Amino acid sequence: MNLIGDHTDYHGGLVLPMAVDRSCAVRWVPNGGDRVRVRSEGMEGRVDVAADGSDDPDQVDPPWGRFPAGVLRALAGRGRAPAGFDADISSDVPVGSGLSSSSALSVAFTLAAAGAGGLPIGTVEVARAALEGEVLATGVPGGLMDQLTALWGVAGHALLIDCRELSARAVPLPESVTVLVAHCGVPRTLAGSAYAQRRAAGEATARSLGLASLRDATAEQVAHDPIARHVVAENARVAAFADALPSGELGVLGALMLESHASLRDDYRVSIPELDALVDAFVEEGAAGARLTGAGFGGCVVAIAAAPSGQAVLDRATERYRASTGREPRGFVARAVDGARPLGA
Ligand code: ADP
Ligand code: MG
Repeated sequence: MNLIGDHTDYHGGLVLPMAVDRSCAVRWVPNGGDRVRVRSEGMEGRVDVAADGSDDPDQVDPPWGRFPAGVLRALAGRGRAPAGFDADISSDVPVGSGLSSSSALSVAFTLAAAGAGGLPIGTVEVARAALEGEVLATGVPGGLMDQLTALWGVAGHALLIDCRELSARAVPLPESVTVLVAHCGVPRTLAGSAYAQRRAAGEATARSLGLASLRDATAEQVAHDPIARHVVAENARVAAFADALPSGELGVLGALMLESHASLRDDYRVSIPELDALVDAFVEEGAAGARLTGAGFGGCVVAIAAAPSGQAVLDRATERYRASTGREPRGFVARAVDGARPLGA
C-alpha cells in the first residue's frame, strides 16, 4: 500500500509504500513430473501448466492462472529447472482494489517456484521475475514498486524506494500516526490502456528532453506538460513526506497527501468522482490528509490521522461517504509488516 508517490515508479522515481498486514501464502510440494498444478482458495478452477514455462501465459484458463504461468515463463528465462510441483494458494489481500493482490500472488508464487526448481535468486531478481510474470499475464506494463514492497517490507516502517537505483530505506512510522485505507466500492478495472497511454506519454516527454527518464527532469522543464509535471512534483513530495514522517508532522504530511491527490486528479487524470468524494469525507471527518493510492480508476484511498482517533475517523469517513454516494466502502487500519519470505516446511 502506497503512502505517497503514484505513477512515479515506472519513470525511475520515488515511492513510499509499506507492506500491510494482509498476505498471500503458496504451499507447494514437488510432484516429480513436468507439470505445475495450482489451486487457489475461493477462486474458480484449477491451473495445470508446463513447468518449463512453455505454455503461453495469456492463453491460460482460468484467467487467474495467467499469473503463475507468467511467473514460470519469467523464471524459465532465468534458468529455472523445469521441476513440477503442486501448489495451494490462500490470500486475504482484497482483489482489484489497488492493494496489489496480483503482486502478492506473483511474488509468493515466484518464491515458491524458485524454491521448487532449486533456483538461487536474489530479492531484486525475485521482484523482477514477478513483475515480468504479471506483465506476461496482463499485458499491462507496470512498475516494480508493488513487488519490491512485498519483498522489502519492514514492520513498523514505510519504505522509501528509489526506483532508478532499486534501493530502499526503511522510514519509521511513528506511533502517533495511524494509517487508514478504504476501498471506494468501485472496482479498479485496471484501465490498462489508459495506464499504458500515460506511461508512453511520459516516456515520450523524457525522450524529447533528451533524458533517460522523467526522474532527471526539472520542474521548469515540464511546467507546461501535465503528465510529466505530476511525475516531477510527486517525486519531490515523496522526498518531503519521508523527511517529515519520523517526527509525525501531521500538518506537513497531510498537506503533501492532498497535493498528491489533486495532482493525480487534475494533471495525471487517474481519479474518479468516488475517489475524490472519499478523500473529501476523510478530510471532513478529521484526517490530516488523504489521497487515492495505486493506479487509480477505482480502488482505495489512503489517509492518515492522529493515532488515538484513527478508528473513529475511519468509521465516520466511511459512513459519510456511504451516505453521500450510496457506495459501500470497506476500510481498515493498516499496519506495516515484514515482507515475503520462504516459510519452510
Ligand atoms: P490488484 O492487484 O490491485 O488486486 P489486479 O487486477 O492487478 O488487482 O489483480 C487481480 C487479479 O489477480 C485477480 O483477478 C486474479 O486474477 C489475480 N489474483 C489475485 N489474488 C489471487 C489469488 N489469491 N488467487 C488467484 N488469483 C489471484
Ligand atoms: Mg495488480
